[in-house]
Amino acid sequence: MTAQAPHELPIPGQRRAWWLREALAGEQPTLLAPSLFGEEKADVAIVGGGYTGMWTAYFLGEMAPQTRIVLLEADICGGGPSGRNGGFLHGWWEYLPYLAERYGPADGLRVAQACDEVVDGVGEWCRRHAVDAWFTPSGYLRVNAFPGLANDWGDTIGEMDRLGVPGQLVHMDRQAVQETCASPAFGEGLFMPSAATVQPALLARGLRRVLLERGVRIHEGTGVEGIESRPGGVCLTTARGSVRAERAVLAVNAWAAGWPGFRTRVLAWGSYMVLTEPIPDRLAELGWTGGEAIADSRFTISYFRTTRDGRIAFGAGVGAAGFDGRIGPVFTHDRQAIERVVANFRHLFPMLSDVRIDDAWGGPIDITADRFPEIGSRDGGRVLYAHGFAGNGVGPARLAGRILAARIAGGGDPIASLPLFGKRQRFLPPEPFRYLGARAIREALISQDDALDAGRRSGLLTRLVALAPSLLGYRFKH
Ligand SMILES: Cc1cc2nc3c(=O)[nH]c(=O)nc-3n(C[C@H](O)[C@H](O)[C@H](O)COP(=O)(O)OP(=O)(O)OC[C@H]3O[C@@H](n4cnc5c(N)ncnc54)[C@H](O)[C@@H]3O)c2cc1C
Repeated sequence: MTAQAPHELPIPGQRRAWWLREALAGEQPTLLAPSLFGEEKADVAIVGGGYTGMWTAYFLGEMAPQTRIVLLEADICGGGPSGRNGGFLHGWWEYLPYLAERYGPADGLRVAQACDEVVDGVGEWCRRHAVDAWFTPSGYLRVNAFPGLANDWGDTIGEMDRLGVPGQLVHMDRQAVQETCASPAFGEGLFMPSAATVQPALLARGLRRVLLERGVRIHEGTGVEGIESRPGGVCLTTARGSVRAERAVLAVNAWAAGWPGFRTRVLAWGSYMVLTEPIPDRLAELGWTGGEAIADSRFTISYFRTTRDGRIAFGAGVGAAGFDGRIGPVFTHDRQAIERVVANFRHLFPMLSDVRIDDAWGGPIDITADRFPEIGSRDGGRVLYAHGFAGNGVGPARLAGRILAARIAGGGDPIASLPLFGKRQRFLPPEPFRYLGARAIREALISQDDALDAGRRSGLLTRLVALAPSLLGYRFKH
């Protein structure tokens, strides 16, 4: 018997995500970040109060403490995906073979090593600044939940050995997976020990607190409407004011899909999550008490972790592509997407069919041609930017922020010379072909996954459409 019919599920988009409600409820309302009225001057103006913008401000303060920083956020800091994601915090070991292909083996390894820092780095940062963001370094398990499919991971582990980092990914046989979380749907898996989970909104709001204490001027409720480059600097305009600065940083994530200059290289996509009622006893029955982050290997990846009060937070990339860079209700109010997330949850955890879903929310993720972020500068170096985390930004946004800060501060931090900086992404097809193509390919990939779920092969046409992105040189899948 199921606990809730579809019409009884929580409606997404009605209120802020549970993570952010929890974080805001525990905050002292003493540190204010009022909207911008009038003119301000700064050395660096940052647009976007998610992880990327806030880590940039934080590292800039560390590297060049005299820098006058203004941060402008349309909503509240952490109001975007940084305050409503799954809280999976990991680097890019899983993608090392691809990084090696993109940059060459040595530089690919350098990038993966730099990104590995983010996990311990966040844990250390939380301790140093007394931010309790539930940092739990219990690793990340990718499970094969397709019946009848063996060795879903190909030779990834062999490649990792050849690239000189044995142990960053570990094969788990079915029994070891069952000991971690006993779902009958799970087969073998791939375990990444150097990964953690966080309560995402507590991390975002903790960053905000630390920045305000350090004198960063934050203006929430302040959307930037335009950035104009002028001799010697930039001018950012908002509804009721402006900021003149030497440099600007655009850290707007999926909103970049609507910015002139980026819209041809970023596609916004919906990702949705649900949260169960507290079920600590049921988690104990599953043996899932270690706090591991877990995901399957579907195209519309399902990812799930536990909370401190014994709930499951379960997400899936089941939303739709956006049209022409607009960030609208399709990313926050899609009830069908929530029904699909819940169906995935019931499929992977059939023994929890009676468990109530307490909350549901969504947000946009930003996809580039190869699913890696685009970090760079334009307007003669006066405007820097980082976006394109493809639903994997909790950790990498810290790396991006460090890179941007190091580029601005100068001073020879080796992080600034990582080849990630300055590599432009390939163009995506123009609208309406991008939207229509993304839809068709998504449907094909989903039906391919559905066929694998049912233990069969999909039809030839489906396979051909699903292959289209890679034939055209795009990396559409995880
Ligand atoms: C449902 C969901 C689950 C996810 N789960 C995970 C996960 O488990 N692990 C993981 O690694 N990643 C996950 N992600 C992705 C991750 O949340 C993002 O990659 C990360 O938060 C990106 O940080 P950011 O600072 O670049 O962007 P954001 O957090 O989106 O911040 C950008 C900010 O810019 C602001 N903004 C936009 N335009 C303007 C403007 N014109 N003026 C002023 N401000 C503006 C927005 O309001 C927003 O607050 C998930 C995403 C979603 C939606």
